[in-house]
Amino acid sequence: MYAQVAIEKVPNRLFTYAVPEGMEVRVGQRVTAPWRRVCHRGYVVALSERCPYVPKAGRVGEPDLFGVATPVPGVRALLAVEDPLPYFSEGTLRLLRWLAGYYSVGFTLALRSALPAPVREGGCGARERFVVTPILPPPPHLPPLSKRQKALYEDLVRVDGGLLARLCEEFSTTPATLRRLAALGYVRCEKREAPRNPLAGRRILPTRPMPLTPAQAEALRVILGADRPTLLFGVTGSGKTEIYMQAIAATLEEGRDAIVLVPEIALTPQTVNRFAARFGGAVAVLHSALGDGERHDEWHRIRRGEARVVVGPRSAVFAPVRRLGLIIVDEEHDGGYKQDESPRYSARDVAVMRAHIEGARCVLGSATPSLESWRNATVLGKYRLARLPERVGGARLPSVACIDLREAARPGEGVPLFSEPLLAALRTRLERGEQAILFLNRRGYATTYQCAQCGAPVACPHCSARLTYHAKDDTLRCHLCGWWRRPPDRCPACGAPIFKPLGFGTQRVEAVLAKILPQARVIRMDADSTGRRHSHDELLAAFRAKEADILLGTQMIAKGLDFPNVTLVGILAADRSLNVPYDFRAAERTFQLIAQVSGRAGRGAIPGEVIVQTLQPDHPAIRTACACDYERFAADELAEREAAGLPPFRRLACVTFTGGDAAAVQRAAEAADRRLAAMPGVERLPPMPAPLERKEDLWRWQILLKAPTSKALVAACDEAFPLETRVTPAVRTLVDIDAVFLA
Ligand code: ADP
Ligand code: ZN
Repeated sequence: MYAQVAIEKVPNRLFTYAVPEGMEVRVGQRVTAPWRRVCHRGYVVALSERCPYVPKAGRVGEPDLFGVATPVPGVRALLAVEDPLPYFSEGTLRLLRWLAGYYSVGFTLALRSALPAPVREGGCGARERFVVTPILPPPPHLPPLSKRQKALYEDLVRVDGGLLARLCEEFSTTPATLRRLAALGYVRCEKREAPRNPLAGRRILPTRPMPLTPAQAEALRVILGADRPTLLFGVTGSGKTEIYMQAIAATLEEGRDAIVLVPEIALTPQTVNRFAARFGGAVAVLHSALGDGERHDEWHRIRRGEARVVVGPRSAVFAPVRRLGLIIVDEEHDGGYKQDESPRYSARDVAVMRAHIEGARCVLGSATPSLESWRNATVLGKYRLARLPERVGGARLPSVACIDLREAARPGEGVPLFSEPLLAALRTRLERGEQAILFLNRRGYATTYQCAQCGAPVACPHCSARLTYHAKDDTLRCHLCGWWRRPPDRCPACGAPIFKPLGFGTQRVEAVLAKILPQARVIRMDADSTGRRHSHDELLAAFRAKEADILLGTQMIAKGLDFPNVTLVGILAADRSLNVPYDFRAAERTFQLIAQVSGRAGRGAIPGEVIVQTLQPDHPAIRTACACDYERFAADELAEREAAGLPPFRRLACVTFTGGDAAAVQRAAEAADRRLAAMPGVERLPPMPAPLERKEDLWRWQILLKAPTSKALVAACDEAFPLETRVTPAVRTLVDIDAVFLA
């Protein structure tokens, strides 16, 4: 018997090994195998009776480096099977073969990306997990504690102990300090057996299925009866999540399992909690913000069939469920489903493929579907369409007012941050004790720092990006690479002494709010305020508990949140995402953002109000978003894309060349362009510097390719850039099929 093995460390090749006498090997198992002089980890992807490899001349029967005899010359033997339970099912291997071909990457790389890092690296299972419990009250006659030990003990009492690792993080202390407390007799420190469960410690009340509204019942009927994926097009608050849960319940009853993909799990804790509340211990959560141990345990719980509903971000599309019956992709339009490193797969598209391969149902849900999915459902008939045009329980969609910031400008003062109507609406909310959400798509204090004399901004020395001013620690920071500096005293370009912040980020809005509405309590939520692991949850819980009047944030607050007391949503600069010249999806993104953010208003009994401030009130994306008219928007935008020959009418690939030497990168791009010129059926734009020409000290060039089908794109890329040639010491070539981010 011979095994084809993907060796984890070797991305572009498969290897043939002989299965030694007496070793039981199955497809999908994790094995150890010799490669060159070292023993490696790999996965069995196929088994065959005859050796598929034509051996070169070699000696038979001689032990190799590992002391194992080679039955066929040049073919070495497997060393061991790590775990009898396979890591990949036949279906998943088929899916990954498709993925490698479709996205033009090596099969082993595809395989690797299907495993969470802690599972790949293994070892976490054996990691010690200690639980610390304070002893209350402390027994008499214990040795006295130092001041710091005493403070720590009091902290432990306050939170009632917990996992050692987590307590160390929370109270900035070390395991040794906690063990010392245990040795002194103040706390117990015990090894715990139970698997780490990310939902443990959250108080979640169980829920029962709700009687569906007629529209929901019809949508569920379409989903359960569909012979192809269903696009669930439902406005925000229309009860999509309830439908997902009932579809899952039906799937579980059939003895099959379900996967729910959510865009960014840290931003959607409420959604996760709702699934946990309905399905209890059957739910596994997979996401990268969990500790390594938790991710490791959750993944193995799924593989063993103990968890049958998986909730997670894009990589959860590969979750090792036993019998897949349903995949749900919530907010299917979200850019977060596209992986931004190789393999650059779209989890939505992988979900559709996986459902097809495993004969499972697939639901794509959104209030603002991607134009790709909308066209698949309404024009091409590839998807079924289910609509939920109204909010549940008669809650009305919020009324949206569009404020022209150019008119709101006062002479000599420029464009205001807050227009009069928005200010008035905020004041009313404060008087009534209702809450408001303010949205600005920019973190930091100011957009940039600029010289008052020559107008030069300060750029990052490693990237072609301006630095953003952060007032809190008085720094200028690069949002691409993290590089920072103090603001210079004089302009680095012309030496003029007047340098000032220009434009607004959330920090500056917060400062302005403190001046104009001093009585308002504000919670700011952006990448800077949510660094710690649980701070998202904590900030949102505080807002929910009405500890603040205004939630101010970046796109982080646009998704999935449901606060019944929020009756006002203000979008401070709606066109900010519109003016990205190289991004043909800018209008689509802007529409989605406005619609999603507005969807946060009026989810309770009181109707909501949305105020959209913009400099371009006549732009079609802003006009249709303010009218809450997705279908109008989609029809207009699709017509434009068709006329321009852009996706979804054409497939697009973006090939990026990066390297430290600008000239070498340019030469590589130009050479590639000459090779591509010979490929039939593929249109290409001439090579040019990427919009983001420099990032983290690397120069970047791009070639955009268009073709009627992705097959043609992949064929051209495979031919022009064979896998083995994509990484050279001077230049890396990255192929991105169905590219979403074109920077
Ligand atoms: P969506 O996912 O479309 O934004 P949700 O599923 O969050 O909508 O539903 C919005 C609200 O309506 C939630 O509070 C939910 O509990 C409630 N809801 C959903 N379906 C029903 C129903 N059939 N009966 C009563 N309430 C419902
Ligand atoms: Zn930078």
